[in-house]
Amino acid sequence: MTLTEDQKAQKEADKQTLQDIKKYGEARFITMMVNYMDSSVKTRRKGLHVSNLVYPSLRKGYFEYLDQLNNNGRTNSAGMTEESLITLFMGQKFHEESLTPNHELGMEYKIIGGPLVYGTLDDMIMTRSRIVIFDKKTMKTTRTHPLPDYPNEHHRTQIEYYSVMLKAAKFIVSCKDCNKSWLSNFKPEACSWCNKPEALSIGEAPSCEGRDFFGEVIYIGVGLTRKSKGVPFKIDVNKAEMSLNEKLIAIGKALETGIPPSAEYGWWDDYASEFYIASRLLDAGEANWRDYLPFDPTKQVDSNVR
Ligand SMILES: [Zn+2]
Repeated sequence: MTLTEDQKAQKEADKQTLQDIKKYGEARFITMMVNYMDSSVKTRRKGLHVSNLVYPSLRKGYFEYLDQLNNNGRTNSAGMTEESLITLFMGQKFHEESLTPNHELGMEYKIIGGPLVYGTLDDMIMTRSRIVIFDKKTMKTTRTHPLPDYPNEHHRTQIEYYSVMLKAAKFIVSCKDCNKSWLSNFKPEACSWCNKPEALSIGEAPSCEGRDFFGEVIYIGVGLTRKSKGVPFKIDVNKAEMSLNEKLIAIGKALETGIPPSAEYGWWDDYASEFYIASRLLDAGEANWRDYLPFDPTKQVDSNVR
């Protein structure tokens, strides 16, 4: 069968149209994920978060904290690879659904000499004898890296720190203006979201007294294996409290002196690669290390440390 000149031209035009439609659909899809990720970053409170404190390198968390305070609403999702975008997008979507009545429970925690730290646990149940904190983690599984039998150190630490904040909570705070409520170990003077003092109502937090703490990471395989696996563990809250407080004091001291806490290098630097070079220069005693940070650390004025 031979095509006429007209048919050939039509076929060529259709091919071009399909190419255009393909590009359009793909671009819209990626943009949808970027916008979604950026909007969820914007709803995060500015300040120190538990996630800044879970890696062995405290310097990473310190730089992340300063960077966040210095960069007004900067969002990074557009710079991500498509693979990271899809993985993180799925992770965020899983987090929208609740496992327990205590879903996305916000908490504030403050000790003397350290900055205020925020944390939002995924899910929690409290029975007469125990408290279980759940955290969902998506994981890119491969043939050599199946879902783990034990929680990753930083996942475990994150849940342990939530347990400290939960146990320390004395007040349940709600803001009528923001329609948000959270637990706190101190009586706040104003809403930490909108800064309005008048919209706050403060009540007593439920007591965790006499209960054992457990954690469970729900791993969700989004690579080779599409399976989920719960990995539970018991929490020593007193030990976790000492660890969290030590880190907060160290960050408080760093904020006061301007001397960053010590660094430990590892795979986690890939998640904050923008601080890596400055950190190496600092360790090498180079005076110009600040020039290599994505923000100006000397401009930092911190009102959270007292
Ligand atoms: Zn508010």
